[in-house]
Amino acid sequence: MAVARGVQEAMTRASWIRRMFERGAELVRQHGAQNVFDFTLGNPYLEPPAAFFDCLGELARRRGEGLHRYMPNAGFPQVRAAIAERLAGQEIFPGLRGEGVVMTVGAAGGMNIALKTLLDPGDEVIVLAPFFAEYGFYVANHGGVLKTVETSADFDVDVGAVAAAIGPRTKALIVNSPNNPTGRLYPRATLEALGGALAEAERRIGHPIYLIADDPYRELIYVDDPPPPAAVFHANSLLVYSWSKSLSVAGDRIGYVAVNPRADGAEAIAGGLTFTNRTLGYVNAPAVMQLAVTRLLDASIDVNWYRTRRDRLVAALRDLGFELRAPEGTFYLFPRSPDADDVAFVNRALEERVLLVPGTGFGRPGYVRLSYSVDDRTIDGGIAALARVMGRR
Ligand code: PLP
Repeated sequence: MAVARGVQEAMTRASWIRRMFERGAELVRQHGAQNVFDFTLGNPYLEPPAAFFDCLGELARRRGEGLHRYMPNAGFPQVRAAIAERLAGQEIFPGLRGEGVVMTVGAAGGMNIALKTLLDPGDEVIVLAPFFAEYGFYVANHGGVLKTVETSADFDVDVGAVAAAIGPRTKALIVNSPNNPTGRLYPRATLEALGGALAEAERRIGHPIYLIADDPYRELIYVDDPPPPAAVFHANSLLVYSWSKSLSVAGDRIGYVAVNPRADGAEAIAGGLTFTNRTLGYVNAPAVMQLAVTRLLDASIDVNWYRTRRDRLVAALRDLGFELRAPEGTFYLFPRSPDADDVAFVNRALEERVLLVPGTGFGRPGYVRLSYSVDDRTIDGGIAALARVMGRR
């Protein structure tokens, strides 16, 4: 076999995504793009803010400074220092210095260097289901074993279940809040309890359990006074961030991993992140983007654009008889599938040219995911089409 068995098997497991994609493309060919309502994409719809383009213009004029050469694998020192100062100032990681920040190729790059740095073969990584399906591949990339723990009916962390799942091989826990696919922002009380349970489990098993907070939706939160990132609530923690969503620059691939200065082996971990950034082939995060985001630390796309769409779709879906909780963040909705078999419902929706992702793909059958990072035509046409799917015209 030309392709390695592990890759072949992973591609086969992930093939439903490709099939959905192909089916969508076929519907577009048959009916025209304006008659297909695609809610599957986790792609930021908005253009980046004007300040981003201004900044790129300025950076394009800077010549003779060697800005586009190789650089330290962790990124420009002044960029790392600026991010550390901000995270320290926001009391996310008090005392953080630039040495504890590694610039990455988005959150995906950040998750991969974090897992590569932490995992020995056979180490277990706990994820909270439903979860971003790529975690399974990232953990496998680095010899880890994925252990899923179900969240509660309202998608909150079941802290008791996490504690019960921790064993001698547990090395890390991934927390993604607000969450893809549910949009759930874990409450402060939950995060405090989780931090307490992790500290207690560490005493029991006798080694650190690293909480990896995967936070690419941090700015896409629609509640007042949200809790800080989950990484704040546990000493042994890493914060993975990306500007893909907050600046709508997913194609430009820029993010960071920050190591909690209170973490066991913080310095060694930062060294591991730097080394794996190099050896996994990222080498360093894109130079121009590092400089751009440092100047745009206060910039963001208009979050209200997403909030308005969330409100509209939540109300419309409830009207149609969908059961769902209004998410506090991200640009996803995760209603219960009207048919017990979510894949069957997704196929039924396809007949009306509505594209959804089955919850099965995120480890929670019986639900479907819709992205509302879509244009008005998709929302208007999609609601009308879903009304037909639900038997109401
Ligand atoms: N983590 C989660 C939960 C995501 O939903 C995504 C992208 O959709 C990523 C990580 C990867 O994001 P990035 O573009 O920053 O690599």
